[in-house]
Amino acid sequence: MSDEKIIQTFETLRGNLIHKDRRFSEKNGKLCFEGVDLEQLARKYHSPVYVFSEKEIYRNLAEISEAFKGWKNTKTFYASKVCSVMGILQIIKAAGCGIETNSLNEIKKAVEIGFKGEDIVFNGVMKTYEDLEYAIAHDLYLINVDSLYELDMVDEISRKLKKVANVCVRVEPNVPSATHPGLVTAFHAKSGIDLEQAEEAVAHILKMPYVKVHGLHMHVGDQVPESEPFAKATAVLVKESMRLEEKFGIKFDLINVGGGIPVPYKYDAENGDPLHDNMYAGITSQDFADAIIGEVAKWRDDVQICIEPGRKVTSSAAVLLSTILCEKIKTNHNLDGSVQCHVDWKFCDAGYNVLADAQHYAWFFYIWNASRIAEPHDKWMKLAGPLCDGGDYYHMGLKGEEFLFPKDMGINDVIAFIDAGAYSIESQTVYNCRSRAAVVLIDKDGNDRLIRRADTYEDMVSYDIY
Ligand SMILES: *Cc1c(COP(=O)(O)O)cnc(C)c1O
Repeated sequence: MSDEKIIQTFETLRGNLIHKDRRFSEKNGKLCFEGVDLEQLARKYHSPVYVFSEKEIYRNLAEISEAFKGWKNTKTFYASKVCSVMGILQIIKAAGCGIETNSLNEIKKAVEIGFKGEDIVFNGVMKTYEDLEYAIAHDLYLINVDSLYELDMVDEISRKLKKVANVCVRVEPNVPSATHPGLVTAFHAKSGIDLEQAEEAVAHILKMPYVKVHGLHMHVGDQVPESEPFAKATAVLVKESMRLEEKFGIKFDLINVGGGIPVPYKYDAENGDPLHDNMYAGITSQDFADAIIGEVAKWRDDVQICIEPGRKVTSSAAVLLSTILCEKIKTNHNLDGSVQCHVDWKFCDAGYNVLADAQHYAWFFYIWNASRIAEPHDKWMKLAGPLCDGGDYYHMGLKGEEFLFPKDMGINDVIAFIDAGAYSIESQTVYNCRSRAAVVLIDKDGNDRLIRRADTYEDMVSYDIY
């Protein structure tokens, strides 16, 4: 695409952002999120800071339930690894949603927020004795057993505690998906047991006095751009469930299909090819639901469908605010010393320590100048973070490594990375002894409050023993 075309497309997106996007608007030249001026929030709470919208979380959850309204018996477990900030978990709980956990501490956080055992499921490839003991003692709705080794531990602990352990057997349905290779979990993956071993697992369970098997579990992958893998994998699980029921004369009461609903990070519709660029979401929650329901309906209509959406719930619900704190023009030379080009570098206070995905998975984010949202974003610039690492700049630009910002963008301007609510806060680090960002919530009445503070110097040294 030509530069002109890219600028034109980005300008159209800017128009859509402030006039058509349910989350954003413009007031006095400033970008507002749920009606709140983002520049003012960045000044009030200090950047870098994540800002969540309670309303958007509700809208996303409502969209998922609406998608599954054709299957009454659906139970939703929010995948807490996408964002386990307590204030966010409170919202999930208030919305009547269950919770999916991956570690002992995630379960403990859920319990502390008030989730009952019956609203918690526990996943993970390597659960320890201690983890399982806590899970069984707290009567979790499901422990998704990931290996035969784990199953024996569940047996042993449930006998010791004389408590029922509710389990699903996580299998690998052998279905690939066109997402990022690091996000595929149902094909040549470390998780789950072989489909062929499900029978052996169920045979074992039927001999265990306190272990109750409820069905099979899978997770196709994250940010899966098409619905076919979901339909295929569900078909595999349904077929195997029916076979096992027949074989052992038992009746499963559910199927757990995991998460993976994709969300758009790029939305210039005409360029979107999700199969080659999964920053575009090729399917909606409804497509996901239809693919799954279509297959489960071939089994029985009294089967419960359990889903574990994560990214879809929080991604669009947060922005990361950062402030431009330095700028310089640099010259790129060719090897013969001649000038290749000049680069307009802007430096912001959000390095990859606060937005790891941008670096780790070369994830794409739209970045807007919140201080000058009414001005054309038509000048090419590179954007870097503050870390002492040559790689700490934003590589996934609108053209190569370059981004478009207003020509007058300068020191103290606030920029907003949008759709930054999933897998971001959880993967922050204190690299370079820089603080992890604070988190602010705009509640459903439009009031802002801090729900997590940034690290302080005292926090950083308090872990060290000297
Ligand atoms: C990560 C994960 C999820 C959530 O995936 P999303 O793509 O964020 O919806 C659900 N279930 C399991 C087992 C997971 O590992």
